Amino acid sequence: MTDSFDTIVLGLGAVGSAALYQLARRGDKVLGIDQFDPPHTLGSTHGESRITRQAIGEGEQFTPISLRSYEIFRDLEAQSGAELLRITGGLMISSPSSGGIHNTADFYKNTLRAAKKFDIRHDELSAADIRKRFPQFVVRDDEVAYYEYEAGVLSPEKCVEVQLALAAKLGANIRVNECVLSFNESAGGNVSVTTDSGTYHARQLVVCAGPWVSQLVDPQLSSLFQVQRQVQFWFDVDKCYDSFAAGAFPVFIWELSGSGKCQSMYGFPALDGRSGGFKIGTEGYNKVVTTDTVDRNVSADEMATTYEKQIRPFFSPAVGPCIKARVCLYTSTPDTGFIVDKLPGHDSVIVCSPCSGHGFKHSAAIGESVAELVLDGSSRLDLSRFGFSRFDKPISV
Ligand SMILES: Cc1cc2nc3c(=O)[nH]c(=O)nc-3n(C[C@H](O)[C@H](O)[C@H](O)COP(=O)(O)OP(=O)(O)OC[C@H]3O[C@@H](n4cnc5c(N)ncnc54)[C@H](O)[C@@H]3O)c2cc1C
Repeated sequence: MTDSFDTIVLGLGAVGSAALYQLARRGDKVLGIDQFDPPHTLGSTHGESRITRQAIGEGEQFTPISLRSYEIFRDLEAQSGAELLRITGGLMISSPSSGGIHNTADFYKNTLRAAKKFDIRHDELSAADIRKRFPQFVVRDDEVAYYEYEAGVLSPEKCVEVQLALAAKLGANIRVNECVLSFNESAGGNVSVTTDSGTYHARQLVVCAGPWVSQLVDPQLSSLFQVQRQVQFWFDVDKCYDSFAAGAFPVFIWELSGSGKCQSMYGFPALDGRSGGFKIGTEGYNKVVTTDTVDRNVSADEMATTYEKQIRPFFSPAVGPCIKARVCLYTSTPDTGFIVDKLPGHDSVIVCSPCSGHGFKHSAAIGESVAELVLDGSSRLDLSRFGFSRFDKPISV
């Protein structure tokens, strides 16, 4: 294999696989490198399911990115024959008294605003409506919901697999189980990337390292990316499978009352048959870790506590205890937004981190935008709010 490329993509998870595929589609001579063999279970892109939705409460700039991603995921399905996106409908529950925040203050109001602005099919439900339509949720009288018809579930591992396979078919070079140790930009703007197996050269480098990104950028930038331990829990629905199966049960985000970011919970229908369980996640932002130090085990105590706190008060008593749990990693910026920008001081290095726990649904279109940035110098979708310079601290190298 030659060691010179147009572009190197470092990291082949959710967004790296998308960028690699999109670059290969456009005829770029591209190399993708990953320290593991994606999809794998050590980063941010595992656990069988990710919520996708169209009206995005994290900020208006995200809705066009999500809409474009829907189109790309459908196109990937058509090319591969794999089922990547399953429409289940999505319920976002909140209340005027809810102190819960899902990623952003005003998540619920912003979601409604985006739905109206972008003409996204939805209903607004009172507590009585929720009880009638989705009796699986034990809501309080002051709780309301936004129901989105086209929300659904993406299969993260399959999306990565399909994009890597299509990229390879289009001529992309892929090196797995090879770790990037460092990269350097020459005065002329070319980049050399050194791994534990060799050195490669390219005109541009795209860094899609997920929770490892802070280890690859300068120390003053690395503090912008905090890594948090998150747990995905599956609960036994054997006794109530019909009401938790896809078709009967929507994906949901529930802003619970109480204060603080960790009061939000989200979940999915039972996707893996009667014995597969239904999955929820609670968002915890206070456990900052690193990829090396994170505890990847989930204790019996943690599972039992989650059942008592997140399942028993909010769902039918027929839902049984936790049957499995997996640790996954969020990478959060201070404003929970993304970084898709040139690395300060480097003209030929783009850092791409669609992170903070809500990036998967956008990853297909972010990959496409990155390919446009690399090849055309600008992207059709507006990425202007994803720059390094938005943070208060002076960022320079
Ligand atoms: C529990 C959980 C639930 C989530 N739920 C949702 C959801 O419902 N909806 C949603 O839209 N988003 C969700 N997200 C967010 C979404 O999954 C992430 O934003 C997305 O997967 C991040 O992808 P990534 O490509 O940035 O990182 P990863 O997929 O982790 O990819 C990074 C890759 O870089 C490689 N790498 C790193 N360093 C090196 C190196 N030095 N050399 C070579 N390779 C390297 C790694 O091996 C890895 O494969 C969730 C995330 C978690 C953790």
